[in-house]
Amino acid sequence: MKETSRRIGNLPVSATLAVADKAKALQAAGHDVIALAGGDPDFDTPSHISEAAFAAIRNGATHYPAPMKGIPSLLEAIANKMDQDNGIHINPKSDVVVTPGAKWSLFLALAAILNPGDEVLYLEPVWVSYPPMITLAGGIPVAVSLPSEDNFTITADRLRAKITPNTKALMMNTPSNPTGRVLTQAELDAIAEVALEADLYVIADEIYEKLVFDGRKHLSLAAMPGMAERTLTINGLSKAYAMTGWRMGWLVGPASIVKMAAKMNGQTVSSAANFTMHAAVAALTGPQDFIGVMRDSYQARRDYMVNALNAIDGVECRSIEGAFYLFPRFPNSKKNSLELADALLDQAGIAGVPGIAFGASGEGHVRFSIATAMADLERAVARIVDVVPNL
Ligand code: PMP
Ligand code: GLU
Repeated sequence: MKETSRRIGNLPVSATLAVADKAKALQAAGHDVIALAGGDPDFDTPSHISEAAFAAIRNGATHYPAPMKGIPSLLEAIANKMDQDNGIHINPKSDVVVTPGAKWSLFLALAAILNPGDEVLYLEPVWVSYPPMITLAGGIPVAVSLPSEDNFTITADRLRAKITPNTKALMMNTPSNPTGRVLTQAELDAIAEVALEADLYVIADEIYEKLVFDGRKHLSLAAMPGMAERTLTINGLSKAYAMTGWRMGWLVGPASIVKMAAKMNGQTVSSAANFTMHAAVAALTGPQDFIGVMRDSYQARRDYMVNALNAIDGVECRSIEGAFYLFPRFPNSKKNSLELADALLDQAGIAGVPGIAFGASGEGHVRFSIATAMADLERAVARIVDVVPNL
């Protein structure tokens, strides 16, 4: 047989998905594994959203949607949401495309702007899928390493140090997966300053937007002066609405780029699912109070877990400002993060994602998802207490 794709062959598997799958398989085989791997809310999708999907299916929303890039009521709902929550003012007819999951919107954004050899900056620790997506879209991923000792702070100089004549874009994520950082206004200013100075596109991934703690407010880059025309904002329903399995995301940006993304959507996946679009309208236009309830619950779990982990000799865990991942270190251990994650799974039945999966500056860390029931977090802490001396 002839050789298969080197491009895909060389691509790493998604570590977050792989560890989450492994944990579920072990659980299904009867092992007592506490799954702190994947970022999937333990809450069910609110019932009014599911009911809207059932009704849509009964009413015949089982064909291709029209238009394929999003039914008009959903494009309107997204435009209103962006206006009210984000201060981003868009034309629903031309400035948004709906995709199956925000992940595909991220890929479309890259595909729409990159030519071969273009460099894309990403902030490291980075969510596992950014560098492979950049490569797949024909670009060259360039890490801006943010030091753990400096709480992963972004500065204009750290960004500038990686700019070359080939730099096309910067990918960012606030609140951040995996660090739990919420970017400050000063950090957003630094990004905007460098983007304007070096004429970069910015891909702003706001999927954890609603999950910010201690009364913080999420800030959108595209709402800053001069940024709307160069920023592609990505969002979706997976995290805030507990809808990971529905596959619903969107890309918002300048009409000319959205048109390219919609063309690529049409030539690959065609569209998101029709009845999922109807559910998304119900999600965005219906009651929003449950989001605060979920957020408060994640915050309470954070408070418990950060305190409990820091009370263990040999574990260091910074508190987080948003999203639902903790990123502890094990300073007394000689193991690297892959060995640490293996040891936690083998010796304590705890599935976490090795920090190295998030790039070199994630080494030494393991990511634990706290979108997990409190009882499981308590069991995990008890097991970590026992296993730490062996790590
Ligand atoms: N961005 C980040 C940083 C994420 O963690 C996720 C979670 N999978 C996504 C985007 C995409 O989510 P989805 O495809 O489920 O909308
Ligand atoms: N984004 C989540 C995570 O980081 C879900 C898995 C994935 O899509 O990578 O765990």
